[in-house]
Amino acid sequence: MLHNVKRTDRLFTPVKKLMDARSLKNLSDPKPLECLSLIARPWVRGRASSNMPNQKRSSRTPTRCAWACSDLAIGYHDKEWGVPAHGDGTLFEFLILEGAQAGLSWETILNKRENYRAAFDRFDPRAVARYDRRKKQRLLNDAGIVRNRLKIDSAVKNARAFLRVQKEFGSFDRYIWQFVGGKPRLNAWRLPRQVPARTAESDAMSKDLKKRGFNFVGSTICYAFMQAVGMVNDHSVKCFRYKVLISKR
Ligand SMILES: [Zn+2]
Repeated sequence: MLHNVKRTDRLFTPVKKLMDARSLKNLSDPKPLECLSLIARPWVRGRASSNMPNQKRSSRTPTRCAWACSDLAIGYHDKEWGVPAHGDGTLFEFLILEGAQAGLSWETILNKRENYRAAFDRFDPRAVARYDRRKKQRLLNDAGIVRNRLKIDSAVKNARAFLRVQKEFGSFDRYIWQFVGGKPRLNAWRLPRQVPARTAESDAMSKDLKKRGFNFVGSTICYAFMQAVGMVNDHSVKCFRYKVLISKR
């Protein structure tokens, strides 16, 4: 488990990200500062996890990105991370989950994912867009999700903005994929430290989403979203999923 990862200096996130997290004042999550060392995009976890025991490789174990070191993370890595997603439902789900992750570890979010599905009407943006004050209060009392007023408010705000984008572009898919020209960007990283936290594309996406009224869509959140939904292939070149996903371009 991530929480047992021995801390090294390299586990800590860049200063900018810590500042981003600290700027999330008034968060209702317990002990937010304690979570800072666990702020992690998958690639950040990879830096710290390369010596994890379950990363020992045998001839039967496929080579994976170093961050996939728990059963939950391995399942997610092998089946979802980086697979090009074009369904608006999936895209909305990741938009909400990536926003919910800000300041926390992705493992935390994966653990709560089923609770999120249940609490947020299976990520139906039309339903979420209608949430009123009473529903938001119920969510704030739901221990199964991240109980953070700003994040819950932002999910509702984002659902409304999501519907506006769908109306304007026909689908969110058509809108969001334009930031990479409609095709996954293929990278070729050999080491976790080579993977960027943000790019010019994620900067552009973040700027445009903010202009359209979305919240919790800073450039690093946008880049994590792009990695998750396969707008970029950031699997290590040594990872077995790297080649599998090239064939899906
Ligand atoms: Zn991988």
